[in-house]
Amino acid sequence: RPRLLSGMQPTSGSLHLGNYLGALKQWVALQDTHEALYCVVDLHALTVAPDPAELRERTRWTAAQYVAAGIDPERSALFVQSHVPAHAQLAWVLSCLTGFGEAGRMTQFKDKSAKQGSDSTTVGLFTYPVLMAADILLYQAAEVPVGEDQRQHLELTRNLAQRFNSRFGDTFVVPEPFIPKETAKIYDLQDPTAKMSKSSSSPNGIVDVMDDPKVTAKKIRSAVTDTGREVLYDPVEKAGVSNLLSIHSALSGRTIAELEADFAGRGYGDLKKELAEVVTDALGPVRARATELMADPGALDELLAAGADRANEIAERTLATVYDKVGLVGRA
Ligand code: ATP
Ligand code: MG
Repeated sequence: RPRLLSGMQPTSGSLHLGNYLGALKQWVALQDTHEALYCVVDLHALTVAPDPAELRERTRWTAAQYVAAGIDPERSALFVQSHVPAHAQLAWVLSCLTGFGEAGRMTQFKDKSAKQGSDSTTVGLFTYPVLMAADILLYQAAEVPVGEDQRQHLELTRNLAQRFNSRFGDTFVVPEPFIPKETAKIYDLQDPTAKMSKSSSSPNGIVDVMDDPKVTAKKIRSAVTDTGREVLYDPVEKAGVSNLLSIHSALSGRTIAELEADFAGRGYGDLKKELAEVVTDALGPVRARATELMADPGALDELLAAGADRANEIAERTLATVYDKVGLVGRA
């Protein structure tokens, strides 16, 4: 079984429908075919200077939602990035192999730093992709499920792996991007041309996994649609309605064509009403289970410690090889 690694940043207390459908649901399915490691990348979240108490809280909530959605800690290693010191240690070695210009070409850095201005942009944001490379290479992961937005970072990871291998001898598995087919990309309900994103500025456009069902229904009711009346899938002319249809289809398992036929002669109101039910039915159990897990933080922390032990064993082995190959003296 090929080894696979993925993670999300604890940048918000709740995951949203895009994270759930675009990533988490796939992760759950991939446990059947892969040896999976799933982490909450809290070190990455430091790049946005979160409030310390919030970061701690959000890290646990993110882990709780992984488990609640079906990540099985018996089968998959579920852990918090900062619990495995080798992530930061390997990142240092890799940063000494990364060109300054090479890192500067990362479009996510260019976008985010342009928004912040150079005085508030940190070196951490600049080296973010190097830490991501370390996350992946430590585990010799053959495959990495990534969204389109992470493609360039994965390319850097591959380049660093190849560079290290050719300079110091075969060490790292060069990972392949894994884009599961039929992964839904979910758009913002208020701006259906922008992807639903934790860091977006329109809270009403984001359906959170942890939202109260009433809030979910309200957000869906007020989703932006066009002035037409027919429920048809047309991402260009009817971006809003199409987004609602894809969400429905991804959760209900019914095809878009079936849904169009079903809603023929009925209006957008009907679609929204039914969709609110489909969404709250699907997320309800996840929300309930996550809340339950959070009620016993001691048990959750133990589960994360066990995951960190498993991850650490693999990571330590890779780091020891790397330290040796680059010429660091081993400690007696
Ligand atoms: P941020 O705005 O902080 O970058 P995000 O919402 O983009 O947050 P990430 O933690 O960057 O979330 O991504 C976690 C996972 O969710 C990734 O695999 C990403 O590809 C996926 N994902 C994020 N947004 C969507 C979306 N709108 N539709 C489908 N998948 C998504
Ligand atoms: Mg993102």
